[in-house]
Amino acid sequence: MKLPEFKSEEEEAEFWDTRSLTDYLDELEEVTLEWSPEKDTCPGCGGQMNENFIDVQLNGLLIPHILQYQCPTCSTIKISEDALLRVNRIDTMIKQYGLAGMILQKMMVEQGIGK
Ligand SMILES: [Zn+2]
Repeated sequence: MKLPEFKSEEEEAEFWDTRSLTDYLDELEEVTLEWSPEKDTCPGCGGQMNENFIDVQLNGLLIPHILQYQCPTCSTIKISEDALLRVNRIDTMIKQYGLAGMILQKMMVEQGIGK
């Protein structure tokens, strides 16, 4: 399925509220995410948020190096949108292949015997 062009983040959010990411997995791999400086602005107080990288546990699978923002003023935490997309895709893949399948695939890639 083809992804439409979004005019705003609100429009994109509404779109994803009513659709499943799984229908667009092929499209998502083609998407290049752009950096926008507004993304590290705190939604709570409007202040500048600090970036840091965390490891996330998802259904027993460790996803390293997830970018999150933390506000030093009001302690609001948010995860970057590209990291969220990544987590959502991994979550979808776990549901599709099962965790054992994911780990096996990762091991095969690391050992150069699979893709
Ligand atoms: Zn804040």
